[in-house]
Amino acid sequence: MSARRCDGPLRRPLASLLRRGLLMAVLVPPLLVGCGPGLLTGSGTSGKPSDADSRPLVLTTFTILADMARQVAGDRVRVESITKLGAEIHGYEPTPSDLKRASGAQMVLENGMGLERWAQRFYATLPDVPHVTLTEGITPLPIASDAYRGKPNPHAWMSPRLAKVYVQNIRRALTELDPAGAEIYRRNAERYDGELDALDKELQASLALIPPRQRVLASCEGAFSYLARDYGLTEAYLWPVNAESQVTPQRMASLIALVKERRVPAVFCESTVSAEPQKQVARESGARFGGVFYVDSLSLPGGPAPNLLELQRRNLKTLRAGLAGS
Ligand SMILES: [Zn+2]
Repeated sequence: MSARRCDGPLRRPLASLLRRGLLMAVLVPPLLVGCGPGLLTGSGTSGKPSDADSRPLVLTTFTILADMARQVAGDRVRVESITKLGAEIHGYEPTPSDLKRASGAQMVLENGMGLERWAQRFYATLPDVPHVTLTEGITPLPIASDAYRGKPNPHAWMSPRLAKVYVQNIRRALTELDPAGAEIYRRNAERYDGELDALDKELQASLALIPPRQRVLASCEGAFSYLARDYGLTEAYLWPVNAESQVTPQRMASLIALVKERRVPAVFCESTVSAEPQKQVARESGARFGGVFYVDSLSLPGGPAPNLLELQRRNLKTLRAGLAGS
C-alpha cells in the first residue's frame, strides 16, 4: 500500500476542509481518523463507509456506474451511488442528506448525455468537487420522438461495447485523483475490459439464435437503442425516456400494432417503473408479458442483477425466454 491513501482529506489544509464541509473529520480524535497500517488493510474489504475510512470518496449518480467504478477502483477508493438501488434515476430529486454526503466526496462520476439534470444542484453547491462525464468520447444516438426528440439517448452503458469506453474514462479519472494507484487501476480496467469483451461475444452468439423476424425488444422505456444497434435488434417501447413516462393512446396503439404485425411473442418492462401499461399492451396484442429488465438500476445484492455483467446476462435470459415462448 502506498502512502497516497493517507493523503486524503485528513492532510488537506483546514481551509480546504472547511470549504468541503469536512470540519467534523478534523474534530474526531486522531486515533479514529489515523492512517496507520491497520486501518489501511482494515478498510479494504467491506466497501462500507465508516468514519474511520480514510480512502477517497467517489460518488456516482446511479448504482450501475458505482459498480463499474468499483470494478476499476478495487478497494482503493470508496465508491457510493447517490441514488439508491431501484430508484428512478431520470427524474430524481436530490435530498438534503445527498448534498451533505456529497460535500465529503473528492469526485462525482456522472453518465452525462442529459441523464442527470438533477445533479446540477450538486455541482452548484460543490464548486470544489470535480465531476467527470463517463460518456465522453461516445457518439450519442438521438431520441427518436416526442418531447425529447433529437436529444441524446443517455443509455449508452447498456451496450457492452460502449461500457468499455466508460471503463477507460473511469480509469483516467481515478488515476488523476490518485496517481499512485495508476498501476492498480490499469490492471483492474484491463481485467474488466476482458470481461466485457467476453460478454459481447456471448450476447452476439446468443442473439444470433433468435430468428431475425423475432428479434424485437419491446420494453417500457426506449433504453435499448445502443444495445439494439450494436446487436442487430429492433427496439420498440411505450415512451422514449423515463423522464416523460406518459402512456398516450397513440403510443400504446402503435406499440400494439407493431407487436401484432411482427408477431412478437413477448413484451417487457424495466424494474424501476410500473409494468402495468405494458401488461395492457400484452393483453391487447395477444403477446405475453415476458418479465422485467434491469436497466437504470442494479437489483438488491442477492437479486438477479447485482452488477452490470449479471444484469446483462439476466436481461438476455429474460429476452430469450420471452421470445422463444418458453
Ligand atoms: Zn432510463
